[in-house]
Amino acid sequence: MNTLTFPILRLLADGKFHSGEDIAQHFKVSRTTIWSAIQHAQTLGIEVFSVRGRGYKLPASINFLNTEEVLRAIGEQRAWFNLQILDEVTSTNTYLMQQSAKGAAHVTCIAAQVQTNGKGRRGRTWVSHLGASLTFSLLWRFQCGAAALSGLSLAVGVALIRALNSLGVQNVQLKWPNDVLVLDDKKQGKKLAGILIELQGDMEGPSAAVIGVGVNLNLPQASLQAIDQPATDLAHHASINQSELLGVLLKHLAEILSQFEQHGFTSLRDEWTSYHAYHNQAVRMLMPDGRDVQGVVNNVAEDGILLVDTALGLQRFSAGEISLRGVGCR
Ligand code: ATP
Repeated sequence: MNTLTFPILRLLADGKFHSGEDIAQHFKVSRTTIWSAIQHAQTLGIEVFSVRGRGYKLPASINFLNTEEVLRAIGEQRAWFNLQILDEVTSTNTYLMQQSAKGAAHVTCIAAQVQTNGKGRRGRTWVSHLGASLTFSLLWRFQCGAAALSGLSLAVGVALIRALNSLGVQNVQLKWPNDVLVLDDKKQGKKLAGILIELQGDMEGPSAAVIGVGVNLNLPQASLQAIDQPATDLAHHASINQSELLGVLLKHLAEILSQFEQHGFTSLRDEWTSYHAYHNQAVRMLMPDGRDVQGVVNNVAEDGILLVDTALGLQRFSAGEISLRGVGCR
């Protein structure tokens, strides 16, 4: 942690050159202090160009998350939220799980300008970069126990699709259990956003869910290509400010979570199915033991379990350990 790093990055956010001398004068510190704050940025994976005689520069201009803009985009329900925007965090989910254990309020949202060790399911990593990714987690406390939350991760996917549709993003679909895909011109689904839900509490209740969401805004091409499944970002499909995006996502999440609390996933199942990229499609289910089960997606059950017609009859797959792939996809 270096307290000057983010103030300097905000100064560099215009994407133009700023001389070390000007920055040092602005913050009333030495040029060496500026240099070490920039070194810290680089350890966070933030690229800062340094050119002798010209100074420091970010590769492109950056739009930082802004609390006021997020709250404005949430609209009437903004009072529900305890919103905190952190400059840097290892993982918004890990941080919020810790805060939740210490009693953080219902509907606390932690967003990060940069997440240095984002998590996917089963210990995998979520790729993100400063200004190029939206990463946040939302804490929702339930009276019911964790056992009743099995359809929650699918319900969250519905909220993301509603939010993206309301912002005019087209051709967005879900891949069970909750990846958000955008279909390209060849109707190939590419991953735009991921969801990671972690639960706390008893099976009988009460319980708490930390809902982590990562959305690609404008990832460098090299990062998109390094991801081991087809991925895309919003910049290829729409022009949306990340603060507005976060606000609209939170508004739709609050609506869906309230509905889920009262009526469960059952009330959202038909809508979820209408967004499923693989409904009635041939798929491969990648099993934890390395097996590959082929079949045709039949539906999802009221608890979010995927029903697939296979050579052995109708089989039920629960999320957690299993990955779904289209036939012929990576
Ligand atoms: P599966 O499709 O195998 O079930 P998943 O997509 O549900 O996996 P997650 O845990 O949601 O897996 O996300 C982690 C996976 O997502 C990584 O293993 C990688 O394949 C992919 N990934 C990582 N970062 C990004 C990103 N920024 N954009 C798109 N996909 C990513």
